[in-house]
Amino acid sequence: MEIENLTLEADTPGQEFRLGVFRFHGSGSGPSVYIQGGLHSLEMPGTVAIDRLIPRLKAAEFDGRLIGDITLVPHANPIGLTQVVFGQSLGRFDANTRVNFNRSFPSKPVNCLEAKPVSDRLKATLLALAEQAEVVLDLHCDDDGPVYLYVSERQLDEGKRLARSIGARVILTDANDEPVSFDLAAGERWAADNKGDRFAATIELRGMIDVTPEFAEQDASGLYRYLVDIGTVSDTLAATSAVVPIIGDVDAAELLATPSSGAVLYEVDIGDWVQEGQRLAVVVSEPGASHHEIISPFDGQVMTRREVRFVRKGDDVIKVLRHPLP
Ligand SMILES: [Zn+2]
Repeated sequence: MEIENLTLEADTPGQEFRLGVFRFHGSGSGPSVYIQGGLHSLEMPGTVAIDRLIPRLKAAEFDGRLIGDITLVPHANPIGLTQVVFGQSLGRFDANTRVNFNRSFPSKPVNCLEAKPVSDRLKATLLALAEQAEVVLDLHCDDDGPVYLYVSERQLDEGKRLARSIGARVILTDANDEPVSFDLAAGERWAADNKGDRFAATIELRGMIDVTPEFAEQDASGLYRYLVDIGTVSDTLAATSAVVPIIGDVDAAELLATPSSGAVLYEVDIGDWVQEGQRLAVVVSEPGASHHEIISPFDGQVMTRREVRFVRKGDDVIKVLRHPLP
């Protein structure tokens, strides 16, 4: 394993950011894989999964079982990690450009990149690392949710294979290949290079607080199993009971907003099946006086909830995936 530290100059004098890149060199022609965590800087499940994956890959490298190249970036967003305001960390949006760190990736190499803000240079650097690989996995997490995937609709079969390996309960497909997110932008770069058969996915590893030794091991095992399954690592693994994921179009996952502010009391959990008309949550608008009920508009499964249990008027409270009840 080699560790390369890439340096990005900050936009102001006297500061710079370091991007740690871990490289494993395969001995054969297995698919090359790029995995990053923490693009939304504070989303730590992916970072700790990579930490637990590294010893397994070192062992494979030592034993000569590493067939394809693997590149890991555990902290893909050192800029976001520095954004702290009055003790509150803000890792999802760039405080300078106000752009979501997982949006607005350039579909083509950028001219005069050195004159751009550091967040643009970070995005270009990550994409340049990723586009050299044949498989790209971008590890995120939700506020509060299950393990689930976002894949392009045309790559659903490969998505199912990944879901089986990592135990994803839901796959959301996107027919619109507009390269807004990191994985879609990597796909766009490949398509322009006639490498459209390569695979990129966003993996959501549960919620923000689901950062435990057990989950880290479980997710590292899932990623390792996938690397073995696609032939990047050679190993013999015991079969596991495969989870059959629910598959839905990204537009079938609906966020339900609240018309009034208040504290949120959830009455359903992640993964619960719910019926049309069922009460999902109560927003305590005026304690002792008025409440607002969040009602499911259709049959489906609860996908995500908010981590912070106070909402403002118009905020999304819960995400439900429209799906026939089992
Ligand atoms: Zn994220």
